[in-house]
Formats: sequence, structure tokens, C-alpha cells
Amino acid sequence: MKYLQINDAEIINERLIEELIEKTKSFDRIRFNEIIEKAKKAKGLELEEVAFLINIEDPEALEELFEVAREVKLSIYGKRVVFFVPLYTSNECTNNCLYCGYRHDNKILHRKTLTTEDIIKEAKAIESQGHKRILLVCGEDPNKTSIGHITSAVEAIYKNCDIRRINVNAAPMSIDEFKMLKESGIGTYQIFQETYHRETYKKMHPQGQKANYNKRITAIYNAYQGGIDDVGIGPLLGLYDYRFDVLATLMHIRHFDNFTGGVGPHTISVPRLKYAEGWALDGIPYPISDLDFMKIVAVFRLAVPYTGIILSTREAPDLRDKLLDLGVSQISAGSSTSPGGYKEKEEHANQFELADHRNLIQMMNVICEKGYIPSFCTACYRRERTGHKFMEFAKEGEIHEFCQPNAILTFKEVLLDYGTDELKKKGEEIIKKALDEIDNIKLKEETIKRIKELEQGKRDLYF
Ligand code: SAM
Ligand code: SF4
Repeated sequence: MKYLQINDAEIINERLIEELIEKTKSFDRIRFNEIIEKAKKAKGLELEEVAFLINIEDPEALEELFEVAREVKLSIYGKRVVFFVPLYTSNECTNNCLYCGYRHDNKILHRKTLTTEDIIKEAKAIESQGHKRILLVCGEDPNKTSIGHITSAVEAIYKNCDIRRINVNAAPMSIDEFKMLKESGIGTYQIFQETYHRETYKKMHPQGQKANYNKRITAIYNAYQGGIDDVGIGPLLGLYDYRFDVLATLMHIRHFDNFTGGVGPHTISVPRLKYAEGWALDGIPYPISDLDFMKIVAVFRLAVPYTGIILSTREAPDLRDKLLDLGVSQISAGSSTSPGGYKEKEEHANQFELADHRNLIQMMNVICEKGYIPSFCTACYRRERTGHKFMEFAKEGEIHEFCQPNAILTFKEVLLDYGTDELKKKGEEIIKKALDEIDNIKLKEETIKRIKELEQGKRDLYF
């Protein structure tokens, strides 16, 4: 089979991004209303429209933007919020990304690569919190974190734990390596471009494989050609002007969507740069206010309504709770960014500082109080609803049909196995409301039947 080589020059046009940002700088109420009307239809936006929205500073217009983002999120994803947690298998790294605590020249970091046995222990500690979905993460070191390290970790976790979906965030690989990764049974392959601005990218990544911008931006194309049709991307916000990186992320998405004939990325992550012990920066190069961060999430929600948005515990509790309304569909909880962080409570091996330390039970309580339903669903990739199939549903807004019953069933299971009395009380109310919202009578009856089966001891039920 012949594989296609992509060049970053055909993906990111920096001049066009700069021109669009400049052209849409002044606020125009009539234009704003037009774009907002279009955004409400939840079919996405053009780059110039996105540029206009990302430039907004008018407080009233921002409120309207947030309101429409809320509506669109509900119409596509419903009220469920999917939980995941990262598992760091190694902090050894031959790169020197200036912002990262794992960078090669950071001499104060306690270096560690977990053995398969350690990884199973970590996964079991995660499982005992109630989680079903793990994001495997590691530094890039050809001797320590090669494809074999990652695939053995994935296989060992599936074999030994009740973890039902493992996604991976790791360095770019060859197409053959991606095939091996796919074979191991992963869900999504995730990779962040950090910044799309070439000059800044060069400054931030002075050494190692990661200095190669082209290799990084084309990794998702290789993953796709290796058979992984659910990929995740994202900019590391704070390295460069966020307006540039938001537009560039959308250019990347558009190009990838064309390349794959309609399969956009499965998820966009919105990591915001945090202080890391031993980093090589003097501070955050382009600080982003909370309000601008909210705007970024809302704009992504409207620009690509069918793509999941992932929020980590880098953000503080109050802001995380607000962002749930604006479009975030997946969040982590009870996280550690250190290899061995769950079982051994390792404290000197962290990648960066976290801001939300609430555990999974606390987060589930918050989600219920906000009227959402916690979901531990892993059904889509197990039912082969990935790539084109997933997008067919998602782009028509029909994925919601499956999400609601699956959220109910998986939350019910976690409530039965891990819920406290307080959570069970809140959870049962939320489940009752969520059942009432299922319009399809047959689906509703089948969900009620399966809830009973869960109560009788059956597990892992989904549509
Ligand atoms: N080493 C691989 C790589 O760089 O792609 C994979 C995992 S890396 C540990 C995961 C992500 O952490 C990076 O892509 C980067 O966006 C993020 N990160 C690194 N340093 C950070 C910091 N100080 N604050 C917030 N996020 C950071
Ligand atoms: Fe290594 Fe990834 Fe950290 Fe860069 S971001 S130093 S590649 S772990």
C-alpha cells in the first residue's frame, strides 16, 4: 500500500491566519448577529467567522457567545460528561521542551520508567477510584518509551484490570508503529502541536525529535494511515497568541478532515500552560485570562460542534465548573502527572502543577449538582463506531441517542460499586431525569431493563 506524505506548508498558512485576525479586529454588531445565527445551526463556522469571534472583547457579545455555546453543546452532546484519568508511565525524555518538567536538562526531577508490573498497580489504583477510561502518557525516549513499552502497557492493563478504554498521548510514530498501537486495542491517539507558530515552536523545542515541526503536525495523518481513525489534537495555550493558535488548530482540523474524507479529529484538548518545577521559562510567554480561556472553549464548540472538547485538572475548580457549560464534554478527575503517582504517591516526578485536586467522587457530586450526568461510557470504539461511522452520527447530532442511555448505564454501575450514600441519592435523581429525556420509547424501556440487570449484578452493559 502506498502511503501519502504530507507537508506542514500545505496545512498551516501563517500569513492567512495573520490577515484574518487583522481583518476581523473591529467589532461589528450586524456581522456578529449573522455569525451567531449561523453558529446556532451547529454545522460549524468558516475560518473568517472564527477569527471574528476570537477577537471579541465586548462583554455583552461574549455573554451571547457563551449562551449559544451552551445551547450547541446540549444539542450535540446532551447532558453527559465523560470521565477519564491520565496514567504516566515514564518521565524520561530526550527532548528539551522549555516549558515541561520532564525536559531532558531538568536535573532536579526524579526520573522513572514504570515496569509493566508497576503500570498494572497504577491502573488498579485508578480502577479502585471507579474510573473506566485511561489516557496513557509518557516522555519521548527511544530507549525507554518505544512502541514496545506503550503496547505492553496497554495490553497488560486490559488483561489485568477493568479498564475499558485506553487512549494514548505520546510522541509521533511511524505508520508501522501506529499499526502496532492500533493492534494493542487503543481508543484515541492524542498529540498536541503545542504551538502552530513556527518561530515560537522552534524556540520552545530546541533539541531532540520534537524540534521537527513537520513530524509533529503530520503525526495524526500517519496514525490515520496506520488504522487509528480516532485522533485528538490541541494547542498548548500560553506559548503564543491564542488567537493565532485557535485559528491554526482549525486549519489543521480542516486539512485533516479533507485528507480523511470527512473524519475530523475526535477530540480537541485545551491544555493551558502551567508552571512546572525545573522548566526553562521565565514565566508564561502569553498569559491567558480566565475570560479569554472561556472564549476559546466557546469558539471551539461553535467552530466544530461535533468534536469532543477535553479539559484536564490544569484548571482550577471554579473555572472547570463554568467550562462544563460552555462546551467541554470530557474531563479528568483525581489526576496525577507523575509516574507512580497513584499507588506510591510519588511527589517529585511531576510534569507540571495541577489546580483541581478534587477526587472522582467529589467531581461526580459536582456534575450531578449542575444537572449533568457523569458518564463512564466506552461503547463507541467497542461497537466500532469510530472514524467515518462516528462522524456520520456526530455530524448529524445523532450521537446523543447513544450517549444518554450509555451514560445512564455506566453511571449506575459506578454508583453501585463506588458511590457514597450522598452521591447515590443525587445520582438516582439525575438518572431518573435523564431517563425521562429519552424520547425513543423502546430505547428507554431497554435502558430501564438493563438498569435492573445492573442492580442484579450484571456489569458492563451498553448500546
Ligand atoms: N512527550 C509527549 C509529547 O510531548 O507529545 C507526550 C506527552 S507530554 C507528557 C503531554 C503534553 O503535556 C504535552 O504535549 C504538552 O502540551 C503538555 N505540557 C507539557 N508541559 C506543560 C506545562 N508546563 N503545563 C501544561 N501542559 C504541559
Ligand atoms: Fe518530553 Fe513531552 Fe515534556 Fe517535551 S512535553 S519534554 S517531549 S515529555
